[in-house]
Amino acid sequence: MPAVSAGAASRLPPGRLKTVRVVSPGVNESASREERLELGVELLAHLEHEELALPDAIDRIETVTTSPSLTREILDAAEKRGVVERENARLRVRRGGTYVNYESQVTQREGEFECRRCGTAITTGHFVQLDAGELGPFGSSCVRRVTGREGGAGDAP
Ligand SMILES: [Zn+2]
Repeated sequence: MPAVSAGAASRLPPGRLKTVRVVSPGVNESASREERLELGVELLAHLEHEELALPDAIDRIETVTTSPSLTREILDAAEKRGVVERENARLRVRRGGTYVNYESQVTQREGEFECRRCGTAITTGHFVQLDAGELGPFGSSCVRRVTGREGGAGDAP
């Protein structure tokens, strides 16, 4: 029965196996601090909202890292590189025309996953493909939140 996921996993380079039966604390824990910083900055660059509250930005960054110090580094780096502008408790995303193209940048894989954002057990993992790496897995609602496709708060997993 593991034919599908085994096939998918075998295409990944060694050391980056992060699809199958990973429960917690998440698939990107093996990523280096630097890789996660890049992921975080890129994630902010891809948000579809022009402006968002700092807590919302942090909510997204937490899908990359739960480390407060790295979160701060990501925000600092994003600001330094002109990806975002920080204004008090809001972030303004400076668009470079780099939205996540949902259709081409979000892939789905079947397996036993735990949503990286809300921790819900899911059987279809949604992964966001960024230049700096892959982010996920997320449930179908959370991936939309992460990519900024849906705003608002308090939706279901
Ligand atoms: Zn979720």
